[in-house]
Amino acid sequence: MHVMVLGAGVTGVTTAWYLRQAGFEVSLVDRQAGAGMETSFANGGQISISHPEPWANPSAPWLALRWLGRADAPLKIRPAADPAQWRWVLAFLRECLPWRTRRNTAAIAALAVWSGHCLGRLRDETGLEYEQRRRGILHLFNTPREFAQASRRVAELAHFGIEARVCQPADCIAIEPALAARQSPLAGGIHAPGDESGNAHLFTRALAERLAQAGVRFHWNTQVLQLNHGNGTINSIDIADGAGRRGALIADAYVVCLGSHSAALLAPTGMRLPIYPVKGYSITAALTKPARAPEVSLTDESRRIVCSRLGDRLRVAGTAELAGFDTRIRPERIRPLLDWTRQNLPGLIDEASIEPWAGLRPATPGNLPLIGSSTNTNLWLNTGHGTLGWTLACGSASALVALMRGEQAPVAYPFLG
Ligand SMILES: Cc1cc2nc3c(=O)[nH]c(=O)nc-3n(C[C@H](O)[C@H](O)[C@H](O)COP(=O)(O)OP(=O)(O)OC[C@H]3O[C@@H](n4cnc5c(N)ncnc54)[C@H](O)[C@@H]3O)c2cc1C
Repeated sequence: MHVMVLGAGVTGVTTAWYLRQAGFEVSLVDRQAGAGMETSFANGGQISISHPEPWANPSAPWLALRWLGRADAPLKIRPAADPAQWRWVLAFLRECLPWRTRRNTAAIAALAVWSGHCLGRLRDETGLEYEQRRRGILHLFNTPREFAQASRRVAELAHFGIEARVCQPADCIAIEPALAARQSPLAGGIHAPGDESGNAHLFTRALAERLAQAGVRFHWNTQVLQLNHGNGTINSIDIADGAGRRGALIADAYVVCLGSHSAALLAPTGMRLPIYPVKGYSITAALTKPARAPEVSLTDESRRIVCSRLGDRLRVAGTAELAGFDTRIRPERIRPLLDWTRQNLPGLIDEASIEPWAGLRPATPGNLPLIGSSTNTNLWLNTGHGTLGWTLACGSASALVALMRGEQAPVAYPFLG
């Protein structure tokens, strides 16, 4: 059976990997010239199993109001005359209800734990190198009020089988000595030793190379224009190549892994996916003193900023902006990332080498990826991974392939269909 995967970000490439491992004939289509060139290109790098709580939680609406009008606010809404944006915002507010947050957190935690196992197994089997570090994630709290929630969070993580411990400021510095130079007081932290970090783009590219060696066909520079459907199945997809020449591709089944662009392509088939782009930014810079740079990945819980060391470079990422499909880099949104680096890791990056980047998180209101079957019998979804696509990629892909083979889902998750 020939399965065509649409989209070669981290989600699409891992889907192709597990399909190939299961014996399917696989091809991959992407409008870019290579794998992982859009949202999977320069994300925060964290395999963050210890952060299953979605952005949509009971405190989110109040935080959003507090941040209103601040240029450096972690969340910025640029209202547009786009009904999809408003529908998404309303659905997001509904997901902030406490019981929905609890349900979403449990589902993400289960998928994240499973995904961590899958990533480990894949790494053992392939020996892939992607600037990975397995030193955990240290979550930092800047104020005693925020730190007061640490024990509750650790207990909740323990309930999901995720190891974490509350750390006083001195413990944080013992775990990550680079924090000793921090210029503002630290209230405390949580250390999750099972978490990891790594370069999602390198991983995606390296895995795509393995797939090519395994006989998977890639259609690069190929834009998917439309899915042709009838009688409850997808019959073919219309495409255009880099020179604008049009054509069609045919397979027995299709998997949509098109990130933020999934909703627009599926709308004509009658499916309304609740995916909207939430823009984020990162900076990547060379380390001036690699020996003094952090080894542990960091999450600043107060500022919503994450930081991962990738080889001899540092990646700092964060901010959320509802601005449609605009991927322009706004200097005022990059500024908080630079300020954070100067305050927390002073003198550690070569500012002349900074590479700024912006990408669109394919976000569902509750941050639950859409994984499973659809109303068309040969169309499957693995998309909408929002803030955690790198963390959840391997688990989502392997679970989807189990479902496609008619097997029992390997993890308790609200799969589609
Ligand atoms: C600033 C930032 C920081 C982040 N940090 C983290 C983190 O630390 N940890 C974590 O787990 N997650 C993180 N994420 C989220 C993660 O990066 C995403 O969830 C993940 O990359 C989504 O992968 P994807 O494959 O679904 O989408 P993409 O990587 O966007 O892949 C979609 C692919 O579809 C292709 N495509 C789209 N439309 C078409 C079309 N019409 N025809 C052909 N091809 C098409 C694109 O070219 C692209 O290659 C972060 C995101 C951002 C923005």
